[in-house]
Amino acid sequence: MAEAKLIDGKAIAEALRRDIAGGAARFAAKAGRPAGLAVVLVGEDPASQVYVKSKARQTVEAGMRSIEHRLPADAAQGDLMALIARLNRDDAIDGILVQLPLPQSLDAGAVIEAIDPAKDVDGFHPVNAGRLMTGAPSLVPCTPLGCVLLAKSVSPSLRGLEAVVVGRSNIVGKPVAQLLLAEDCTVTIAHSRTRDLPDVVRRADLVVAAVGRPEMVRGDWIKPGAIVIDVGINRVAQDGGKGRLVGDVAFEEARSVAGAITPVPGGVGPMTIACLLRNTLEAAGRRTGIA
Ligand code: NDP
Repeated sequence: MAEAKLIDGKAIAEALRRDIAGGAARFAAKAGRPAGLAVVLVGEDPASQVYVKSKARQTVEAGMRSIEHRLPADAAQGDLMALIARLNRDDAIDGILVQLPLPQSLDAGAVIEAIDPAKDVDGFHPVNAGRLMTGAPSLVPCTPLGCVLLAKSVSPSLRGLEAVVVGRSNIVGKPVAQLLLAEDCTVTIAHSRTRDLPDVVRRADLVVAAVGRPEMVRGDWIKPGAIVIDVGINRVAQDGGKGRLVGDVAFEEARSVAGAITPVPGGVGPMTIACLLRNTLEAAGRRTGIA
């Protein structure tokens, strides 16, 4: 069989960001202000700092306003809640994102629930999770949305496809499964207690791997011609270097069987921020009634 088509997340995310920039310019002209995204970072986690910087840069590049709030690692729950309340009330803020993970001393669930669902651009608030589940319009988690957009880039209709999502986290696995159900896939959610996982994955026309285990999904688990979306980001040791990033799928093996596959890096990763910008613009439009 021919090698799988490579799904270029970087290029697809770039095109999406261009589109959003057009929408953001129209919004700013009509509203008399740019759409605004507030990002809250608590503590000094190096990976979080990199993400936040990158989010801020891309927000500004798309013609939106980025506001960053930094709190020390030992910030009190009450201070963080007060900041969220202030951002909820601020009319020039359309989206609020609290960078996760939060320090252990803070209650992340309470913080997420404190965000106005209309500004919850991460889509993690239970109201948005519930709306997604019931099929009502909602702000949808960014990485799951990115996965579905990548699958649709090679198969515009996913109707009737057998989809297997490996992983059931609230931020990736479950929302991906809901989105695929809304696309009329027949969805199986697999997890660490699933029996005969390779056989379950072999049924799939579309596989989404969101596990966090380097190269766990092997080439001989993949149905010939299937679409493979690899969410995993795992750093593995490499002689003498910083290590290299690999996904949850054994890429080279799967590539010779699949119909289309996302690489790591350069697949799902770049879509996450692009979808965050999309959600910010959508939240701005809905809050103000400006299409
Ligand atoms: P979690 O650790 O929250 O969830 C992992 C899921 O995988 C769990 O449901 C777990 O099952 C399941 N799992 C673990 N081991 C196995 C196994 N041996 N067989 C089958 N299932 C297993 O991870 P996340 O969902 O947050 O993230 C998953 C991956 O995606 C990570 O690599 C993460 O870095 C990456 N990621 C990438 C993003 C991006 O922008 N590209 C964004 C977010 C995450 P159980 O529930 O039974 O424990």
